[in-house]
Amino acid sequence: MASSTVENYLKQIYLEQQTMGAELVPMGRLATAMSVTPGTATTMIKALSEANLVAYEPRTGVRLTKPGEQLALHVLRRHRLVELFLVKVLGLDWSEVHEEAEHLEHAVSDKVLERMDALLGHPSVDPHGDPIPTSKGKVTSPKLQSLAECELHRRVRIARIADQEPAFLQFLHKNALTPGVSLTVEGRDSNADSVTLKPTDKSPLSLGTAAAAKIMVENA
Ligand SMILES: [Zn+2]
Repeated sequence: MASSTVENYLKQIYLEQQTMGAELVPMGRLATAMSVTPGTATTMIKALSEANLVAYEPRTGVRLTKPGEQLALHVLRRHRLVELFLVKVLGLDWSEVHEEAEHLEHAVSDKVLERMDALLGHPSVDPHGDPIPTSKGKVTSPKLQSLAECELHRRVRIARIADQEPAFLQFLHKNALTPGVSLTVEGRDSNADSVTLKPTDKSPLSLGTAAAAKIMVENA
């Protein structure tokens, strides 16, 4: 099994790639995300490149090779299944499981992981709606829109939360804006920087545009 530092780098590069499209992940950006100096990140990336886990282009950036991507997806599978297990089986709050999973993702064995998967009924998403890669390293992430951009007055369902901050997740829970909930966007006011929502069977509420942009929805 790779060291937890290696796993964390691979996972972070994978997550950065999701927002970068085809471009390489710049080293400065990676160093910031890992909370290390650029020098430390470069040393690590050179070692990962020697191990053929990443392709590194000095002065441009880095991306995962196929073996690196498979490892990253395996870490994400562990992370997301552990989160779901902590919520569904152990009853932890969805706002606190990310931190726990950051540790457990490096410790759980494949045997335990596959038992968790079976116990949970082979789930496809974690408590935040993030897709869980299969044991074969396949992942399907449907294209979603956020509440800041989806069509007005059309019924949509919350599918994914693009922020793991505990305070934000608690706020969503308190306002019943969690995955599975259906609602419509009734209006947007760019001057007030607000989005007005109408959850099904509930009274309307309004959110700031930045918060709305972190709530991803699919057509209901
Ligand atoms: Zn997490």
